[in-house]
Amino acid sequence: MKEERNLAPWQYPEERWRKIVNRVRAGRPLRPASWQGGARCAVALSFDSDHETNELREGGESIGRLSQGQYGNRQGVPRILDILVRASVKASFFVPAVTALLYPDEQRRVVAEGHEIGIHGWIHERNSELPLAAERELQMRSADTLAKLTGQRPVGIRTPSWDFSPNTLAITKEMGLLYDSSLMADVDCYELVMDGKDTGVVELPVEWIRDDAVYFNMNRFAALRPYTPPAGVYDIFKREFDAAYREGGVFQLTMHPHVIGYRSRIWILQELIAYIQGHEKVWFATHADIARYAKANS
Ligand SMILES: [Zn+2]
Repeated sequence: MKEERNLAPWQYPEERWRKIVNRVRAGRPLRPASWQGGARCAVALSFDSDHETNELREGGESIGRLSQGQYGNRQGVPRILDILVRASVKASFFVPAVTALLYPDEQRRVVAEGHEIGIHGWIHERNSELPLAAERELQMRSADTLAKLTGQRPVGIRTPSWDFSPNTLAITKEMGLLYDSSLMADVDCYELVMDGKDTGVVELPVEWIRDDAVYFNMNRFAALRPYTPPAGVYDIFKREFDAAYREGGVFQLTMHPHVIGYRSRIWILQELIAYIQGHEKVWFATHADIARYAKANS
């Protein structure tokens, strides 16, 4: 056994690489012929309200970076919510429990305005690197904390790492969650399969391509700089929607209040919603509503 662990990947027996690949797989496609009310495209807007937890999760205590997190609460979320309410659009917010504890009023406003709040870890920990007991306890405590603060029990999760440990899906299934939104095997919803067995858990897939942070993040003391202008990011998101509409599928997008919520960027959200609303038969909905509909109608 010890000898096998020391094998290089090119030496793995077939059984071993198949086992690795089959831990979590995309199974049955969940792709309704049409969406609610006969819509041809489902639009799933999401916001990951990481705020200060991006700094805290690494053990950081930088007051400057924490202040950027606070911007997410003071400016980011209010700008986003104003746009959503004016456009009468519902969306999903994935909120680490520590963010929710720092800003309970923000979460209560999000829920009061008809949006969904989903699990996004405790302190945005790297869940994929945690031992089972810690990951399980944190995932459950995060759900309880959100439920207690907002009065609404979360039915979905976006893992902070956008990745799974070997145990994540079993925990999600044990909790009876409706869906996950962290993986990338398709453009449409699908059922997650664990070690060859259907789980009943819906995946509403994300992609880094449809994430504002990869285009805009900046690291002061390293080479990382924003390399795509806001107009370029708008163009990518718009083309992702255009194709989803043409194909009759899901357009899913992830943004961060502390990334998109700036004067030179927030227009991307506003113009994108206006552009999408210029199309017929589009259904804006929360991730939970889309996952539920896809599961019931596929
Ligand atoms: Zn996050």
